[in-house]
Amino acid sequence: MSKQIALGGLSIVLGVALWANAAEPKGKDWKANDRDRPLPKIVTPGEEPGQPPSDAIVLFDGKDLSKWVRVSAKGGPPKWRVQNGVMTVVPLTGSIQTKESFGDCQLHIEWNTVKRSHSNSGVFFQGLYELQIYDSYQNKNKIYADGVAGGMYGQHPPLVNACRPTGQWQSFDVVFRAPRFSQDGKLLKPGTMTAFQNGVLVLNNAEIQGFTVHGKKAQYRPHPPKQPLLLQNHSNPVSFRNIWIRPLP
Ligand code: MG
Repeated sequence: MSKQIALGGLSIVLGVALWANAAEPKGKDWKANDRDRPLPKIVTPGEEPGQPPSDAIVLFDGKDLSKWVRVSAKGGPPKWRVQNGVMTVVPLTGSIQTKESFGDCQLHIEWNTVKRSHSNSGVFFQGLYELQIYDSYQNKNKIYADGVAGGMYGQHPPLVNACRPTGQWQSFDVVFRAPRFSQDGKLLKPGTMTAFQNGVLVLNNAEIQGFTVHGKKAQYRPHPPKQPLLLQNHSNPVSFRNIWIRPLP
C-alpha cells in the first residue's frame, strides 16, 4: 500500500512539472478559473504505476529489440539477450540506441544490476548525457560521489542514494530538457534533468554541464535538437525492462 502511495505522489509531482510546461496560446493573460482556457489533452494512464500511458512510445515491452540498433561502425541489430521479458547487456557487443531520435522527453525505465558487484551501465539522453546506473546499494561499492547510480555521471551526485540491493529491480522516471544551440553552434541554454529513482527525487532540475566524459570537466558541443537515447554497455550484465518515453512539447 505504501508503495502505491509513494508512486501516486510521484505521478502528481511529474504531472505538475509537465502541466506547467504545457503549450498554451502565448501572450494570453488568463483569468483565474477562466472557462475559456483550453482544457488539457486527455492521456489515459497505465493501469498499474509505472505502466505506459496512452501517449507513450514503448521502446521495450519485453518482446524484442526492434526499436533499437547496435552502436558500432557497422550498426545493425543489437546483440543483447532478450529472455523472459527482459533485455540484458552482452559484454563486448557494443551499446545500443533507439532508431528514433528525441529532444525534450519524459522517460520511464527499469533496470537491475543482477547479482554482480560493481555493475555499471547508464542511460544516455541524446546519446551524450548520462544518468548513471551502478551497483551502489548503501554506498558499499567504493565509487566517487558523481559515479553513484541516479547521478549525472561526472557532474552531479544524486541528491540521496535511493538504491535497492543488487539483484532487485529499480526504476528511473526522468524529465529531460535538451540543451539549445544557436544556428552557429553557440550554447543558448543548457539542458537539465529531473530524476526519481524508485520514487525518490535524485536530480532536481540539475543543469547539464556538457556531454559525459570521465575524469575531466564536461563541455558542450553543438548537435541536432533530436538524437537517439542510448543504453551503455560497460561489459557488465545489467538487465532492463519496461522502457517508455513521452516526447514533451
Ligand atoms: Mg555508466
